[in-house]
Amino acid sequence: MATIKLLRTQNFTRQYGGLIAVNDVNFNLFEGGIHAIIGPNGAGKTTLVSLICGRTIPSSGRIYFKGKDITSMSSAKRVQEGIVYTFQVTSIFGNLSCYENVALSVQRTLKENLKGNFLSRNLGLVSENEIENEVSKNLLRVGLEGVESQIASTLPYGHQKLLEVAMGLASRPELLILDEPTQGLAESEINNLIQLIRDISKSVNVLLIEHNMGVVFNLAEHVTVMNNGSIIAEGTPSEIEENSEVQDTYLGC
Ligand code: ATP
Repeated sequence: MATIKLLRTQNFTRQYGGLIAVNDVNFNLFEGGIHAIIGPNGAGKTTLVSLICGRTIPSSGRIYFKGKDITSMSSAKRVQEGIVYTFQVTSIFGNLSCYENVALSVQRTLKENLKGNFLSRNLGLVSENEIENEVSKNLLRVGLEGVESQIASTLPYGHQKLLEVAMGLASRPELLILDEPTQGLAESEINNLIQLIRDISKSVNVLLIEHNMGVVFNLAEHVTVMNNGSIIAEGTPSEIEENSEVQDTYLGC
């Protein structure tokens, strides 16, 4: 188990009126592999990852990524830093082709990478060739080769999810956050996705929110359990399975 801390939150709290969705959470994510957050509906999982990727602002507390305080950083800036969120709320442009969808992520990323490069900036952007290569590479990586010209909304649902992963990968993440990736997928699609996530995790840190315990225990090396906005347990899948509080509040129900 790797022990280099990639991300940590310090007393992270998010309140909505009288409701505390995330309550004084000190969450640690270590470099390498797959980390899953589980917990019953309304536990605060999505709110926590929204805070991590900057879509939601904390009521109090701080967040550090690779030792740097990113608490006041916008979500767009956090993508450049390497924190990329995908799923649950789809980010696909349904009326654009699959190529165009991935190309948008590629263009944004390559342009950002060129910002410090005076010559490239003045010659005007990124070559079409470079974009094509990146799009093909990322579509291939998720097993979606040959769909470039297809309009995204006409893809089967499972393939739209894969397209979204390709878009996430095109942003060259250091931390890829997958929010309920298997939701709505058939058993065979889930098996393919498990394999894909495992492959991705060889080069990218993965943070997974997932209700399917089979998927969690199959994939994750580390599991955090939330309930009522707080972390109630952390550990390896087998430690979590044996934890009586987790069994009572979640696994047993
Ligand atoms: P699920 O597994 O059902 O997606 P979750 O663990 O992801 O649940 P959250 O979506 O983070 O839980 O919600 C935690 C609590 O915060 C819930 O009670 C939810 O109703 C509330 N909440 C989340 N977002 C908002 C919001 N924008 N405004 C008000 N309350 C919210």
